[in-house]
Amino acid sequence: MSAEIIDGRKVAALLRERVQEDVQEWCTKGNRRPFLQVILVGDDPASIVYTGTKTKACMEVGIETDTMVLQDTISEFELKEIIQSCNANDEIDGILVQMPLPSHLSQHSVIEAIDHRKDVDGFHPMNVGRLSLNQPCFKSCTPAGIMELLKHYSIPVKSQHAVVVGASNIVGSPMAVMLSRENSSGKATTTICHKYTRDLTAHTIHADILIVAAGQPHLIKAEMVKQGVVVIDVGINRVADETNEKGYRLVGDVDYDSVKKKASWITPVPGGVGPMTVAMLMKNTLLAAKKSLYPN
Ligand code: NDP
Repeated sequence: MSAEIIDGRKVAALLRERVQEDVQEWCTKGNRRPFLQVILVGDDPASIVYTGTKTKACMEVGIETDTMVLQDTISEFELKEIIQSCNANDEIDGILVQMPLPSHLSQHSVIEAIDHRKDVDGFHPMNVGRLSLNQPCFKSCTPAGIMELLKHYSIPVKSQHAVVVGASNIVGSPMAVMLSRENSSGKATTTICHKYTRDLTAHTIHADILIVAAGQPHLIKAEMVKQGVVVIDVGINRVADETNEKGYRLVGDVDYDSVKKKASWITPVPGGVGPMTVAMLMKNTLLAAKKSLYPN
């Protein structure tokens, strides 16, 4: 048996197409184009790649965007002042501060400075809190994209046992909330594991749906999962590979080749979750422009 592949590139392209049509319709009605302000602090190579991917996606769907590149020596006070001016600017619908930030800046404090009505990443405590309460909010793009993938492939979630490996604020924790709380698409029985979980296999082996977001290459092996499991691999890890011209290749947190023989569904890395994250950001930016979640 070999798993069916969950094709994130295909589903993300469909989602972007829908957003593009909606943006067009929104503009045809006389509204200005949605605008996403990206703020990049420093010159971390991975962050430059990520912001580039987001800019390209914006252009594809007709969302206007600008990336403000700031010195990595900027003080927290100065950065927050810039964020506040974006908050006050009616021409800006969504604000995205690319993470991680240089270590002298507090991620929490910077995220809290963003107006939650423009927080298209869904990281602000107001959005995180509202997610936990099942209230309309901007949802963190990666877990929201995973829920879309499950929905697209009609993979049942309700009453399943979902195990999430990884408990970060941006992926694992909101993922567990969405799987367990969301009325229309969630309602799984959810276990959340992290670094201090004793005997990880004791949990993963019982998963009907296994979501792995630990940032540990090939953490999940075939013997840790049961036959027929649905596997969503969020991890993006660079491992050295001399046969590759870049000197590395990207692998997930799941040992894909062995696990796919037991799974019923599996996401590849790359081409699984990653494209959905960007597509959901486009969707959130359009929602922000339409003020669909926060009318006032
Ligand atoms: P973080 O490093 O913020 O969090 C990792 C989480 O995994 C933590 O909760 C940590 O536990 C837990 N963890 C680490 N090692 C283990 C282990 N051996 N067993 C169980 N749990 C473990 O990472 P992110 O959540 O930001 O990202 C996770 C991965 O997903 C990364 O590879 C990242 O690159 C990728 N990613 C991919 C995205 C995409 O679009 N495809 C988007 C975002 C991230 P503890 O809380 O105890 O420290």
